[in-house]
Amino acid sequence: MKLAINGGKPVATETFPGYCTTGEEEKEAVLSVLSKGKLSQFLGAWHDNFYGGDEIRALEKEWSEYFKVKHAIAVNSCTSGLYAAVGAIGIEPGDEIIVSPYTMSASATAAVVYGAIPVFADVEPNFYCLDYNSVKEKITEKTKAIIVVDLFGQTYDRRINDLAKEHGIKVIEDTAQAPGAKDGDDYAGTLGDIGVFSLNYHKHIHSGEGGMIVTNDDGLAEKLRLIRNHAEAVVGPKGETDLVNMVGFNYRMTEIEAAISRCQLKKLDGLLKPRLENVEYLIKELTKIPAINFGGVRDKTLHAFYVLGFHYEKEQAENIERKKFIEAVRAELTVAKYREKEGPLVSFGYVKPLYLLPMYQERIAFGSKGYPFNLSDRSYNLGDCPVCEDLHFNKLITTGYMGSQMKKSDLDIVVSAFNKVWENRDELR
Ligand SMILES: *Cc1c(COP(=O)(O)O)cnc(C)c1O
Repeated sequence: MKLAINGGKPVATETFPGYCTTGEEEKEAVLSVLSKGKLSQFLGAWHDNFYGGDEIRALEKEWSEYFKVKHAIAVNSCTSGLYAAVGAIGIEPGDEIIVSPYTMSASATAAVVYGAIPVFADVEPNFYCLDYNSVKEKITEKTKAIIVVDLFGQTYDRRINDLAKEHGIKVIEDTAQAPGAKDGDDYAGTLGDIGVFSLNYHKHIHSGEGGMIVTNDDGLAEKLRLIRNHAEAVVGPKGETDLVNMVGFNYRMTEIEAAISRCQLKKLDGLLKPRLENVEYLIKELTKIPAINFGGVRDKTLHAFYVLGFHYEKEQAENIERKKFIEAVRAELTVAKYREKEGPLVSFGYVKPLYLLPMYQERIAFGSKGYPFNLSDRSYNLGDCPVCEDLHFNKLITTGYMGSQMKKSDLDIVVSAFNKVWENRDELR
């Protein structure tokens, strides 16, 4: 059968169903806020409204109950939440923060924003999260925190908490991609000192834009609330005497986003279950292809599968390049509704290892003189994290075709596309 990339007939003919998590409940909730007329009740002053309005407070209460954590703090993005978290733990310019290079850029930029130096540790070859041994090697006297990422929905290696304890440093968990994932009985997000969720449009559940910070530490929670809402104007009247990083921003979430988020939280379980079933099916079917392997799920954890990643073994594919193989698969497939402009949701690699971004390569962030990198003699070079580079440049392939909206017949189209390319791989030479 002629491959679509060579002019043959593609396997898929219709657009795949799109992942849309909002419906009537959200519509009603938004209209209810609109009809009350209070779209946000936050005041950037020491006042009862410093903590936000009814929807914000209700969301925070429900979120903390759901994830079994003492405090939940609503913000306008996970990025804001990560920045606030780095501020709250008292990071100083020149401190080092160990981060993963294989994540959305904000996980590491959170350090840079406070003048800290991101130190990239390598990732695990099968699970893609920060590698325990690499983190251990990178800890110095200057290390003040570790930002772990539950990449693709897989929880991080919790032994990193022991390293942090040993060295008296904090763990910030970027759990944007893992709402509902668990390590044992504990939810992702609650595994470190502070956890940050994303509610942006592309995540499991969303309010368009938004984020949630969680912590069991009362002191950190209050600092996070201050940073969210103009700390410098509030600390005086509130009687706060520790002024470190009490420079505030406006990271506030609106009542509308909070109302939507409350509906979304109720849906999380129901959205996750079919997704995990779809993932199981795709893993079973796609790994029948000798060149495609699955890295696995960490022992005693529940993976939330924001992205489903596989390893492409070029040697098993008679040296057909990963890029060529995936381009051929993409040619067999169609786009998914709502994400039409992204092309088919099968890809290779993820984001470039972060230390290869111009900001790190040129050591230019704030101003023209290299701050904060000029506080350190660390440099960022190709080769710094070989496992991450091998995954990104050679091995990793990903798919996003496993949301709860995908029926078995849809999954079978995806599987057929891979199989067709595999069976006709001679055409790719
Ligand atoms: C999406 C994402 C973020 C950023 O979330 P926003 O809410 O868009 O700011 C941060 N980290 C990771 C790992 C993400 O996937």
